[in-house]
Amino acid sequence: MQLFDTQTRRLKTVEPRDGKVYGFYCCGPTVYGPAHIGNFRTFVLQDVFRRTLEMDGVKTMHVRNITDVDDKTIRGSLAAGQTLKDFTEGWKVKFHHDCDALGCLAPHVEPSAVEHIPHQIKMIEELVAKEHAYQSDDQSVYFKISSDSEYGKLSRLDERELNLGATQNQRADSDEYEKDSIADFVLWKTRREEDGDNFWESPWGQGRPGWHLECSAMIREYLGETFDLHSGGVDLVFPHHENEMAQSRCACGGEFAGHWFHITHLMVDGGKMSKSLGNLYTLNDLEKKGYTPAEVRYVLIGAHYRKQLNFTLDSLHAAREALHKLSQLELKLKEQAGGIEVLKAEELSQVEELGVFTKAFEKLKHDLNTQAAIGELFTQLRTVSKLSLEDAKLSYQGLHVLLYALGLDLPKPELVPDAPEEVLLLAQKRWEAKQAQDWAAADDLRNQILSVGWIVKDSKEGFDLIPQ
Ligand code: AMP
Ligand code: ZN
Repeated sequence: MQLFDTQTRRLKTVEPRDGKVYGFYCCGPTVYGPAHIGNFRTFVLQDVFRRTLEMDGVKTMHVRNITDVDDKTIRGSLAAGQTLKDFTEGWKVKFHHDCDALGCLAPHVEPSAVEHIPHQIKMIEELVAKEHAYQSDDQSVYFKISSDSEYGKLSRLDERELNLGATQNQRADSDEYEKDSIADFVLWKTRREEDGDNFWESPWGQGRPGWHLECSAMIREYLGETFDLHSGGVDLVFPHHENEMAQSRCACGGEFAGHWFHITHLMVDGGKMSKSLGNLYTLNDLEKKGYTPAEVRYVLIGAHYRKQLNFTLDSLHAAREALHKLSQLELKLKEQAGGIEVLKAEELSQVEELGVFTKAFEKLKHDLNTQAAIGELFTQLRTVSKLSLEDAKLSYQGLHVLLYALGLDLPKPELVPDAPEEVLLLAQKRWEAKQAQDWAAADDLRNQILSVGWIVKDSKEGFDLIPQ
């Protein structure tokens, strides 16, 4: 598989550096409210990335953290009158529920920032000992960006004409600081009144870690000092990922991430999502409007991850139609393949011949081009009636490799009760032939039904008729 790398700005081959398991880290949700569909563009695309690798026979180790301590979670818990733990737990459960509904595989490890405070303190100690960090007058500890000659490489600060030297004495202690200001960033925030009871003991007094540090500490714990790939939405490139990389390289040595995968932001109705514009949708909001999570997923994967995707309610309508069409075509191919069953996921990942869907899978493997893969899927599906039994069998499993990689859960094919009388008659005759075990006659009738544009499908109760 080839995937664009933010740091080198080139396509790079995706393969496990240890030759065994591909280890990747995704910055997870900040659990202070429901995730919105923009967040889910990122999480769903990361899921397609993992599924594609798995269908390509590569074992993965997917680590995604939960940010359960930062400015926003603390503010939220105090406003709600709940402990930080209870508050974040509620939003974590909601996040998991939405991920499941959207068909995202659970990460193999999902560490929480609060549960890794000692790991974070240890990393700060190392940075202070190596003079990459210092304690300021207010007792907080900051990372000294001028101590890292590589700082700015990922986000190419030099090209943005921001002068590192001029900002040496600037400090930022908010978890989110302005994108265009470069400053020493906080590693340990000294205890403040507005944080309530949310503080921990450390060699620098009571306080809590800064946001950027948690990922570095948890990556070291679960993936090591050098690992395969790091991912997030494009807004994380600077300062979050730049800062993570600086801390980790300075504390532990190692290369940190070998590959950076960033997903472009989702737009809604042509603009940024915002509460005040009334276009900030959660999965719940869309379900209340009658759309299914599968339809939302279909829209989210409908554009290449490096291109802007403009979400509209109309695109959900189109997704509904596309999914129904896909499910009818899937059934048609199944018929063509003699009604064979789909292999299990582990078996699908071993399938080498994808029949007419080889090219669609290649599109996915070429920079995760979901849009082109879906286009190719439809192109090939429209021609399945020309396939031989053997090709149809291969292609049927090939189709399911694609559906698994895209994480598409197809709706049941729409059953149409009002098939014309003559078609019903043919289907009835076929049913009787089957009862009489006259398979040749049954097959012949099935073909006759097919030739007038209908597919007959056996069910427990008898048969269903579906338009071709
Ligand atoms: P957060 O919970 O804010 O930390 O964000 C979780 C993930 O969603 C991060 O990888 C963000 O970069 C990503 N994200 C936030 N907003 C959007 C958006 N509009 N489109 C795509 N990804 C987003
Ligand atoms: Zn992170």
